[in-house]
Amino acid sequence: MEANILISNCTIISMTAKGIIENGVIAIKNDEITYVGKQTTAPKITAEKLLDAQGKVAIPGLINCHTHLAMTLFRGIAEDQPLRTWLTDTIWPLEAKLQPKDVYSGALLGCLEMIKTGTTTLADMYYHEDQVAQAVEKAGLRAVLTQGTIEIGDPRIGEKTLKNSISFATKYHGYADGRVTTRLGPHAVYTCSQELLAKVRETASKLNLGIQIHLAESKEMMKQIRKEHNLGEVELLKKIGFLGSDVLAAHCIHLIKKEMKLLAMHNVKVAHNPVANMKLAQGTAKIKDLRDLGIVVGLGTDGPASNNTLDMFETMKVAALLQKLHYQDPTVLPAYTVLKMATIEAAKALGIENSIGSIEIGKKADILLIDFKTPHLTPLHNVYANIVYSAHGSDVHTVIANGKILMENREVETLNENEVIHKAQTTAFRLAAN
Ligand SMILES: [Zn+2]
Repeated sequence: MEANILISNCTIISMTAKGIIENGVIAIKNDEITYVGKQTTAPKITAEKLLDAQGKVAIPGLINCHTHLAMTLFRGIAEDQPLRTWLTDTIWPLEAKLQPKDVYSGALLGCLEMIKTGTTTLADMYYHEDQVAQAVEKAGLRAVLTQGTIEIGDPRIGEKTLKNSISFATKYHGYADGRVTTRLGPHAVYTCSQELLAKVRETASKLNLGIQIHLAESKEMMKQIRKEHNLGEVELLKKIGFLGSDVLAAHCIHLIKKEMKLLAMHNVKVAHNPVANMKLAQGTAKIKDLRDLGIVVGLGTDGPASNNTLDMFETMKVAALLQKLHYQDPTVLPAYTVLKMATIEAAKALGIENSIGSIEIGKKADILLIDFKTPHLTPLHNVYANIVYSAHGSDVHTVIANGKILMENREVETLNENEVIHKAQTTAFRLAAN
C-alpha cells in the first residue's frame, strides 16, 4: 500500500465507534485518510513522509464553530467593559476604519494562532471576507466563511450588504481546492429586519447555502425585540420560516424551554462560545438542556477581541467547567462529550461531518499529534481527561490539514511566523492610533 504520509506508533483517538487505538498507524494519500488501525495488523505501507509519533496522541483536527478571525487585531484593546460600551465606543469605530488589507493581516494572524493551537477548521463571519478566504487558502486551513449582512434600521444598507454576501458566497464556495465553503450570514435578529431575514432565507435555500447568525446573545437586545414584535427572537425566526437544519446559531444563551424545543424541531445547530459569553458576562447557555433535546452543539471561541485567544483546548475546558458549575453537577459534559463538541459534533454543526471530525478511512486527513511527554500530561490514566482538562494548544506538535503538513515539531510550514506577527502588530497599532 502506498501513501504520502505514514504516522506510526501513536495512540489514535478516532472519535468513532472504534474508540482509542493503541500502537496505531494512519496512512494518508493525497488529502484523504486511507488506513487507520493497529500497527500489528496493518498491511505493509510505504510512504514518502514518515512521522514517528512515539509518545504522541493523534486526534482529529479541532473545529472552531464561531469566530471573527480578523478581530485578532483588537485583542486586548478594550477590556473589562459592558458589551454595549465595548461595541459602540471601541469595536464599531475601529471596524469602520478596516481596509481589506487590514482584514487580511488580522486573519493571517488568526490562522497562524489556529495552526499553533491545533484548529484545522473554522467558521468565520466578518467584513471583507474575501481577504479571510485568501488567508485561509495560504495557511492551508479549512473554513466555512460568511460575509456578514447587517441593516441597523436602513434597508438600503441591508440590501447592499446582502448583495455583497451573496456575491462572496457564490464566488468562494469550493475555493482553495474545496477547503473553503461559504454561507450567508445575517448578523443578528436585532440588526436585521424581518424582511431582510426572510430574503436571506429564501436566497440560502435557492443557492443551497447554509446560514450563520448570532442568536439570543444579549438579554437587553432580546427585550427590545420582544417589545417591538411581541415575539421572542426564536419565535420571530420561526414565523418567517427562517429556521432549518442548515442554520448555525451562535450563542443561544437566553432561551426558554419552548424556544429550545423550536430549535430542536427544526434541527437548528448551535455554536457555543463559553469564554466570550463569560467575559462579556452575557450569561450561560444551557448546553445540557439543548443536547438533551437532541440539538447538535459545536464549540467556538467567538472573536479574539472578546476571548482573547483562539485556543480550542482552553475553550473545551471552560465549556466543561461552566456547565458543571451551572448545573451544580460534575457529571454534566464529561471530557469525551466535550471533545466530540470540538470534533465530530462540530463537523455536524457545520454540515461537513461526512468529510471531517473523526479519524477514519475515507475522511479528509485533518489530524493533530499532541505531545504527551510533558509533566502536565503525566500520568496517562484517562486520555480524554488529559486532552480536555490538562492540555493546552501549545502541546500540539504536528498539524495536518487536507493531507498537508501545516506544522511539524511546532514549526509552521505554510506561513512565515515572524512576518505574520510583525505585519499584524503594525496594522493593529496603526488602526488604534488614528
Ligand atoms: Zn460572534
